[in-house]
Amino acid sequence: MRKITIIGAGQSGLQLGIGLLDHGYDVTIVSNRTGQQIREGRVMSSQCMFGTSLAHERNLGLDFWDADCPPVEGISFTVPNGAGGKAFSWASRLDAPARSVDQRVKMPAWLEEFEQRGGKVELREAGLADLEDYARESDLVIVAAGKGEIAGLFERDAERSVFDAPQRALALTYVTGMAPRGEYSTVSFNMLPGIGEYFTFPALTTTGPCDIMVFEGVPGGPLDSWKGITSPEEHLAHSLEIVRSYLPWEAERLDGVRLTDPNGILAGRFPPTVRKPVGQLPSGAVILGLADVVVLNDPITGQGSNNASKCAASYLSSILEHGEHPFDRAFMQETFERYWDYAQYVATWTNALLGAPPEHVLKLLGTAAVSPRIARRFTNGFDDPRDFFHWFMDPASAENYLAAVSA
Ligand SMILES: Cc1cc2nc3c(=O)[nH]c(=O)nc-3n(C[C@H](O)[C@H](O)[C@H](O)COP(=O)(O)OP(=O)(O)OC[C@H]3O[C@@H](n4cnc5c(N)ncnc54)[C@H](O)[C@@H]3O)c2cc1C
Repeated sequence: MRKITIIGAGQSGLQLGIGLLDHGYDVTIVSNRTGQQIREGRVMSSQCMFGTSLAHERNLGLDFWDADCPPVEGISFTVPNGAGGKAFSWASRLDAPARSVDQRVKMPAWLEEFEQRGGKVELREAGLADLEDYARESDLVIVAAGKGEIAGLFERDAERSVFDAPQRALALTYVTGMAPRGEYSTVSFNMLPGIGEYFTFPALTTTGPCDIMVFEGVPGGPLDSWKGITSPEEHLAHSLEIVRSYLPWEAERLDGVRLTDPNGILAGRFPPTVRKPVGQLPSGAVILGLADVVVLNDPITGQGSNNASKCAASYLSSILEHGEHPFDRAFMQETFERYWDYAQYVATWTNALLGAPPEHVLKLLGTAAVSPRIARRFTNGFDDPRDFFHWFMDPASAENYLAAVSA
């Protein structure tokens, strides 16, 4: 039986580990926290996942929360006019609902499921010496440690990384008591050009259904203002203050909101980074990076967990197809390139949205307010962002598309 060790019990590590177990591999997952510590810890993400990623989970029998987690049925998009009103606003339905299950709920349950299906869990913060041991004992070592320090073992790919500094100050606020948006639930996305973004959507957390408020502040701007805020109460108060100042229509939904729990808050920042997929240990042994370790995007487009699910599914196929052949450097590079063939489009689209919106993008998004066809295409692009490259990403294809839609 081939033995595979995975460092990190997050979206990608657990999904891949469980997939491998189902195909008869001997799998160990190394986690730096127990399920209980994850559940009782701080929120890590807003983790809104779209149809294709959820289908990968469903294929492995890991869709435990479809009945309890409120669906996200569409996307609504608003750009303010700078005078307290909206320049334009529209909403459209997703073809398949999205869902956000707090990783504090999902990962402990998946860890248990992994052990029930025969996987081994080792509890430790894996370091270099551990990796050497795992590389000696295993046919393949995969590092799925997300933003963990150990990702630094994989060299930054300077050609594929566009930024070397954080592009947004990030904050999350998990609340109960938010008024529903209207006819159907959405990721309610508000773009404040030059300032940042605010989006909110329903989710399932440790205390039950909730809504997540996500703030993306341009560095140095008014939404980059979380420094010095230490208590959960201050964090909530500051969240409300921002929404009231910039987005009165969203503020109307917030009367009476409360934090889900004192750990339902997060503030931080990181530079979007692509890394080389093969790491080499001092002994010469090679290890393979997975998901955020190799392609780390800003959350502005909500793609990280989706990418993690797709990366895990892609690596699973590559491993199964490789059969009994050695998991050497060439295998690792090829496995990553197969995933990058998809992920490069997500990264390019996400990085583009971090810049000032160009004229053709504002025109497309503005026209979507009167063209349900454009709104629907933009909305469903979140499930597979490769589609944006046919009509959204450059001025010429945008003009062609607008002409075709108006004809
Ligand atoms: C503010 C914010 C909002 C987000 N919103 C969304 C969203 O709406 N939609 C979306 O799709 N994505 C979103 N994301 C991104 C998403 O959460 C991540 O991309 C996704 O969780 C990555 O999965 P992963 O498996 O690569 O890593 P992770 O889920 O981060 O898992 C890594 C695991 O490895 C463990 N670990 C780290 N180092 C070690 C070590 N040395 N030894 C053992 N274990 C270790 C960690 O504790 C963790 O459990 C958001 C992220 C942030 C920060």
